[in-house]
Amino acid sequence: MGRIHVLSEAVANKIAAGEVVERPASVVKELLENSLDAGSTRIKVQVEAGGKKLIQISDNGCGMVRDDALLAFERHATSKIKNAEDLLSVATLGFRGEALPSIGSVSRLRLETRASGEPSGTIVEINGGKILKVEEAGLPDGTSLTVRDLFFNTPARKKFLKSEATELSHIASLVTHYALAHPDKHFELHSATNSLLVAPPVASHSERVYQVFGREVLDQLISIAAVQPLQHVGLPQPPPWRRQEEKDVVPSEPGELRVHGFVSKPEIQKLNRNSIYVFVNGRLIRDRLIQHALTEAYRNIIPPTVYPVVLLFLEMPSGEVDVNVHPSKTEVRFRQQTVTHDFVREAVRAALMKTRPVPQFAVEIGARPTASPSLTPGSRPSSVWNSAVPQEFSLQAPAVPPSTERFQFAGGIRVEGNAALALARAPSVEFLTNDGCTPPPAEEPEAPSELAPALGSLRPLGQIRESFILAVNHEGLWIIDQHVAHERVLFEKVLKQRAAQQVESQRLLMPLVIEITPAQQAVFADISDELNRNGFEVEPFGTRSIAVKVAPAGVEAVQVESMLHELLDQFVREEQELNLEKIRTRIAASIACHAAIKVNMPLEQNKMEWLLAELAKTECPMSCPHGRPVVLRYSMKDIQRAFKRI
Ligand code: ADP
Ligand code: MG
Repeated sequence: MGRIHVLSEAVANKIAAGEVVERPASVVKELLENSLDAGSTRIKVQVEAGGKKLIQISDNGCGMVRDDALLAFERHATSKIKNAEDLLSVATLGFRGEALPSIGSVSRLRLETRASGEPSGTIVEINGGKILKVEEAGLPDGTSLTVRDLFFNTPARKKFLKSEATELSHIASLVTHYALAHPDKHFELHSATNSLLVAPPVASHSERVYQVFGREVLDQLISIAAVQPLQHVGLPQPPPWRRQEEKDVVPSEPGELRVHGFVSKPEIQKLNRNSIYVFVNGRLIRDRLIQHALTEAYRNIIPPTVYPVVLLFLEMPSGEVDVNVHPSKTEVRFRQQTVTHDFVREAVRAALMKTRPVPQFAVEIGARPTASPSLTPGSRPSSVWNSAVPQEFSLQAPAVPPSTERFQFAGGIRVEGNAALALARAPSVEFLTNDGCTPPPAEEPEAPSELAPALGSLRPLGQIRESFILAVNHEGLWIIDQHVAHERVLFEKVLKQRAAQQVESQRLLMPLVIEITPAQQAVFADISDELNRNGFEVEPFGTRSIAVKVAPAGVEAVQVESMLHELLDQFVREEQELNLEKIRTRIAASIACHAAIKVNMPLEQNKMEWLLAELAKTECPMSCPHGRPVVLRYSMKDIQRAFKRI
């Protein structure tokens, strides 16, 4: 008996409409979800050319009988829901009945399937939406779908695909994360040349993390688990006439929220959100509410500009989450938003608090005026600065208890971040006066000053907390972030050396073998040449490891590993086509960052002088390669104004 049916138009119309096949990874996602919904315990994915040429997924799930195998390619044909009510509590990953027809219409597709207990299986071939062949065949139990030449008949969409390595890395991180969500199942991912993932079933999520990412990543994570009963059912009340009908029906229990998974220790800090993975009832989602809860949980534990690594599995009754929000099913709506938000925040916070004293503290420097309406006459309220002034930057110092401090310069001294220098001089800037009695400053803003010469005349006075250099010249008082200043100097140096083919390097005492993730492996091939031209000697070493024999000068051996991980991750997440220029700049920025003087490091007078002189020589002394400010300046005028001398 077939299980698939075509949804009525009324139900179909209630489904969030839109195209699901955007890129090879979206095909892999739909097909993986189908295999999981079919109860498979073994899923093997094979791709070629980043999935552009071939995507093949084989599973040992329930398979399909012949009628279903054909029906599956009709729009809105599904075995997973029947009526509009079912949409309120979807328990499967799929429910739209659109993936197979959509994929079949933009590729050459071959389906081989056999339902368990059936004497034979069925092969269906579809070419750009047209059925070419349907035949009976002896096949193993389960389903195998082969998708070739994706978008062969829609060249416009094909054009938007990224490089093979980029598409492959998207696929790799997708399969990896579904594998993480289902440790009890066997997952494999192979490209034409590599086995990117082979993960036999294991007993727990932490074993799966170990299997996929290695011991080191596991050591950086804290596991979390929490349960909270729900107070009430989040689904809206049925309409009055239905309540009559359902009088005798026992109201359903509210159920409970559960969360488990991993969050990173405070010392792990990522530059973007890309290492945050959240699953809701087994579905990988992107969700701002959960993101916000995570940010709250890490508040004052890590600096506000960095992100943790998170792998969270939230479970809740299927009626508590609306999955019919977005065609690719990556967004959901929680029916009890505040409860869910606070639950996640508290669970993560509690796990973080249980770990030993936090070795980080975050210092925020408001690089803008501490404006209040009663400030010094002539001072400029803050709103004009908001958009362009870097609002804060962060400083990590191991072994100091957590605290958040805000350096504030009372009395209305304007603190200029580098970006502000330009903005403050721009004639179009309007200086708002919101106190109603302070007139805007009558005088013109000071004449623009060339930053580099100004830096050249700086005389260092000392350090604040062995991290920021205080210096003066005739223009005023300056604070220089020693780490980012050195970073800028090194960045330009590495780029110059690279152009001359002579980046300084050092041989490591012993080759360093680094485990990399499947997605990192996919991009390694693309950037390894350039790494080797930038002072590295690094090559593949067995499956999913690389060996580093030589590293750029100045990068300590202990930092080489984290540096390469960070760098590979950046490329893994790159949406745009990689070009040599971009690869080169990123590598140089990374070397500079890791080789630069750190904060919390005492500097002798001559070292400070040297650094300021080197900074003055750079082409772009205002900001570090990551865009953070390098110097803050209090102009003479600001100082005089604050002392009410003008
Ligand atoms: P949906 O998953 O939303 O139901 P799809 O177009 O992805 O829609 O799939 C249509 C139907 O085909 C599914 O409902 C399911 O019954 C069947 N199907 C798809 N893939 C598989 C598979 N790997 N194993 C068994 N049945 C499958
Ligand atoms: Mg599906």
